[in-house]
Amino acid sequence: MDEAFLKQALEFGQPYTERGEVASYIPELSKADGRELGICVRPIGGETVRCGVWNRRFTIQSISKVVNLAMALERFGFDAVFHKTKMEPSGASFNSMSRISDTEDIPFNPLVNSGAIAIVELLGPVGLEGMLSAFRGLCSDPDITMDEAVFQSEWTHSARNRSLAYLLQSKGLIGENVDETLRLYTQLCSLSVTAGSLANLGMLLANGGVQPETGRRLLKEEVVRTTLTMMLTCGMYDGSGEFAVRVGLPSKSGVGGGILSVVPGEMGIGVYGPSLDSKGNSVAGQRVLEYISRTEKLHILDRYTR
Ligand code: GLU
Repeated sequence: MDEAFLKQALEFGQPYTERGEVASYIPELSKADGRELGICVRPIGGETVRCGVWNRRFTIQSISKVVNLAMALERFGFDAVFHKTKMEPSGASFNSMSRISDTEDIPFNPLVNSGAIAIVELLGPVGLEGMLSAFRGLCSDPDITMDEAVFQSEWTHSARNRSLAYLLQSKGLIGENVDETLRLYTQLCSLSVTAGSLANLGMLLANGGVQPETGRRLLKEEVVRTTLTMMLTCGMYDGSGEFAVRVGLPSKSGVGGGILSVVPGEMGIGVYGPSLDSKGNSVAGQRVLEYISRTEKLHILDRYTR
């Protein structure tokens, strides 16, 4: 895969930016330029390829849920995590309340807001500083910081997530520390990354948790397997099924416009395109990934027919 190919993929995706809108429910996010599009691809042991607006800093938003999940699995283990959430696609929007209503005891999965807030409670003792250094390490990006303006903007418009957090408390899934948990969840959503940082994280996951350059294991193999499975089945919210058919790669989107995609055993991909569809997924980013996956036969099931 070279730069000329990525340029073609971005040209294919560009018109789709017109079909979506930047997020506005967090007012600060509405300042993004919806026409921007960029990509970074990091093959394991190969040359990094980049194109378009790949080095724009934007907030990671829900892609933080991937790191939160991996860290919680790593530190507290499988049972502690899946005591808090199920492992099922929710088939509902990212901040749905209906999917943890009276009839459901626990959130559907760790990659929707309700599940992620429950997971972040586990990470309370790690704290913002500990999590920041985990994000910097896993994304090989020492420049990740918290975007204070985005944090304040979301924090002052967090009624929905606050309701979810109190609902979780009423079910005994989080304790007395609702405010602290929600603050940490929101701070982690406000970390600034680039398509390059996401590609680095993707490459680490593609390589089973071992950093290819140093040979250092940062995540256990089974942590990576569980995390990638959750991304494949639940990473694009209520668009996860269609995305799995069209692209077929474990991926996670965020309302900041990022998509993290992983080609297991081969490469990590980071995409930035802040114009979103109605489900909160980058509208053009999904098309770019579809173009790449189809052309290069990267769909995980293609490997059996290619
Ligand atoms: N911080 C956002 C929220 O909790 C993340 C949502 C997303 O990226 O999908 O509403």
